[in-house]
Amino acid sequence: MKKPLSLYIHIPFCERRCGYCDFVSCTATQNIDAYLERLRAEICAFDFGAYQVKTIYIGGGTPSLLTPEQLASLFNCLPTCAGEVTIEANPNSLTRVKCAAYRRLGINRLSIGVQSFDNNTLRDLGRLHDVKQAVDAIKLAREYFDNVSIDLIKDIPGHTFVTPPADILAIIQHISIYSLTKDDHCVLDTDEAVNLPRDFVRYEVSNYARQGYESKHNLVYWTGGEYIGFGAGAHSLLNNQRFCNSGDIMSYHRETPITRTPVEIREEQIMLGLRLNSGVSLALLKNKDDELKMLSEHGLIKITPTHVIATAEGLKVLNQLWLRLV
Ligand code: SF4
Repeated sequence: MKKPLSLYIHIPFCERRCGYCDFVSCTATQNIDAYLERLRAEICAFDFGAYQVKTIYIGGGTPSLLTPEQLASLFNCLPTCAGEVTIEANPNSLTRVKCAAYRRLGINRLSIGVQSFDNNTLRDLGRLHDVKQAVDAIKLAREYFDNVSIDLIKDIPGHTFVTPPADILAIIQHISIYSLTKDDHCVLDTDEAVNLPRDFVRYEVSNYARQGYESKHNLVYWTGGEYIGFGAGAHSLLNNQRFCNSGDIMSYHRETPITRTPVEIREEQIMLGLRLNSGVSLALLKNKDDELKMLSEHGLIKITPTHVIATAEGLKVLNQLWLRLV
């Protein structure tokens, strides 16, 4: 039987670099064709024979900078995928022609980098679009796709989080809200209020979805599934080995794989489980009765017969929870 696998493909080109961004990306768009050639060669060299590809995620950078022809050349060398196929798009580079091309290529989910519904915040973040362009892009995307996600940022110094307007909330299915903190291993959530309609379930610390629209690709990352990343800076987890490509965009190479130890696997499972509303299996927390009791008494976790789930307060101190439970 074929093993399930997810694919991540990194397109590291942007019209302009945003000051807060630490993704692998550059503005040398004249190199896109040469990069795609390298990317295609990398994908073609991988033997997909033993795998059934469940999800594909084309991220960046700004994948919506690619022309339909450039994107089609990439899809020519991808294996078929009957599941979720996502592309990230920025509001100012998403067009009707591109939306139509995405559908023809089998893309069925769009993730739009809105970041804020406040023009001053967008300007201070260095974004190239304004709120009107973001709203127009979301409405355009919904004409072509019934699964549209938006990315937002909160905890921006000097700015207050602005909830998406009601007409936008009514037509999107998924929202990712990332905190503008430098170190992802410290505090993952803060006090800045996010008030979304109740049908957006917070299924992961930074992700909200209507029922059935949780990101299947990201859930593979968060539940320990296998994935292969192609392109500069892309990460992979395959055969219990983690490996990544280097971040030098035009000459990236695969770095040495690291095999995970049982201790590392357990620690990862606890951290990832704490981020999810499904929680951490109690089977991973043997001999932690005292810690569980203390964290529960402080209202930081909820204990079910099978799992431990971080509460809203617990999500603000995830790293502390993790340190107590590993
Ligand atoms: S557009 Fe996105 S990937 Fe590009 S620099 Fe800005 S935040 Fe980073």
